[in-house]
Amino acid sequence: MLSQTFKERLHQIVGKENVDDSKAGRLVYSYDATPQFQSMPDIIASPRNTKEVSDIVKLCSEFKVPIVPRGSGTNLCAGTCPTEGGLVLLFKHMNQILEIDEENLTITVQPGIITLDMIHAVEEKGLFYPPDPSSMKISTIGGNINENSGGLRGLKYGVTRDYVLALEIVLPNGDIIRTGGKLAKDVAGYDLTRLFVGSEGTLGIITEATLKLIPMPETKKTMLALFQDLEAAARSVSKIIANKIIPTTLEFLDQPTLIAVEEFAKIGLPTNVKAVLLIEQDGSPGVVNRDMDKMAAICLEENAEAVQVANSEEEADALRTARRVALSALARLKPTTILEDATVPRSEIAKMVRAINEIAEKYHVNISTFGHAGDGNLHPTCLTDVRNKEEIERVEQAFAEIFEKAIELGGTITGEHGVGVMKAPYLEWKLGKEGIAAMKAIKTSFDPLNIMNPGKVFAKDSRKRVVVTR
Ligand SMILES: Cc1cc2nc3c(=O)[nH]c(=O)nc-3n(C[C@H](O)[C@H](O)[C@H](O)COP(=O)(O)OP(=O)(O)OC[C@H]3O[C@@H](n4cnc5c(N)ncnc54)[C@H](O)[C@@H]3O)c2cc1C
Repeated sequence: MLSQTFKERLHQIVGKENVDDSKAGRLVYSYDATPQFQSMPDIIASPRNTKEVSDIVKLCSEFKVPIVPRGSGTNLCAGTCPTEGGLVLLFKHMNQILEIDEENLTITVQPGIITLDMIHAVEEKGLFYPPDPSSMKISTIGGNINENSGGLRGLKYGVTRDYVLALEIVLPNGDIIRTGGKLAKDVAGYDLTRLFVGSEGTLGIITEATLKLIPMPETKKTMLALFQDLEAAARSVSKIIANKIIPTTLEFLDQPTLIAVEEFAKIGLPTNVKAVLLIEQDGSPGVVNRDMDKMAAICLEENAEAVQVANSEEEADALRTARRVALSALARLKPTTILEDATVPRSEIAKMVRAINEIAEKYHVNISTFGHAGDGNLHPTCLTDVRNKEEIERVEQAFAEIFEKAIELGGTITGEHGVGVMKAPYLEWKLGKEGIAAMKAIKTSFDPLNIMNPGKVFAKDSRKRVVVTR
């Protein structure tokens, strides 16, 4: 329970109109896009500038109130579920583009800007910001930075981390610091910018970010390769990379995902094949044509049933949209959709796809798989019903085995969705006790009172996922 003094001082900082402690308001922010996790916050605040964020943090530090920074709540690791109550911090007033610098090829934004709005603004200037999470229509840049989000263009262009040049951060004691700059080179001290990317709101609050832009590629081509054999599709992925071609996009969808997407989007996707690869290349016309021909030949060598090149930008866009709506399309089919993002080295993708299917069969659970195959980043997605306790138990066992297999193949428990509460019990499998201790030392030195998004990343009880309801 928050004291009246705390509430009054919060009102003084942001104004009464930017504070909500109604039951309905708190309920809205008690969960995010992650199924199975819900916990009520005590209060919600929407600051208008960095000074107000700093004052709120100082107040929370004084009263030892947990702070949960929240963008659009689309994370899939319960990263914004207020498991220990406290204050949810929204950035709806801090959503502006502050500058597009065409000389230095940078954009400076506030954390609450919607990713796609920012992408459109830079494209109007003939510039390109590649990280494109499928949630970009609703996700915020603050969320993207804190989850180090990837997207369909990650294979060639990298992930959010590769574009963050500078940050303004409010530390857990309320201090405001600036890291990095509009610089191609900067080795002045520890790389705090990189430390904060992917820190899941546990080390501080990002109030401004300067991101790198690149020139828009000259041209782009898109194709679908259709397979009757899942593993042949996966082998084609490894073979394309082994042939020293790095396409912009190399995405995988299995048949159950294809059927769900086609029923949802109705764009004429083939549903009678076992898997498709969505392949894109961009660059100069000569390079694009050469690479597309080579990749089509590789797929056909691996017994692809057909290779279909998109004839227009509209057709290509429909194919990209089909991939982006995969999760939403699957989520319509059952009451609960649990999506994971086990990731392996690209060379192991065929083994991982096979293992996922064997594990699903072993535990009698319904798992569809799609994902950024070129990055080795698969999204095995389980359609289930949280009310069926016995089935959920089997689902948990199946995912634990999938994570184990990913690690055994040299991979990781999460390629882009973060750890949050959901994956915390498995972090030790990846890092070992010593790795966890090193990370905890960083957390404690920044946030000795543990007020910044507590309960995330580090599990209270390893090897056991907890469903929280507070
Ligand atoms: C349909 C769907 C598709 C998706 N596709 C992808 C995909 O292709 N690739 C991918 O990587 N992810 C994907 N995601 C996951 C999710 O969209 C990303 O993690 C996204 O970056 C989260 O952005 P958000 O604004 O919703 O952040 P939130 O979910 O609100 O927050 C994410 C994390 O950032 C922290 N945070 C937010 N803002 C700040 C701030 N200003 N300062 C400090 N901490 C902050 C939060 O505390 C939390 O830990 C998808 C999710 C959905 C639902």
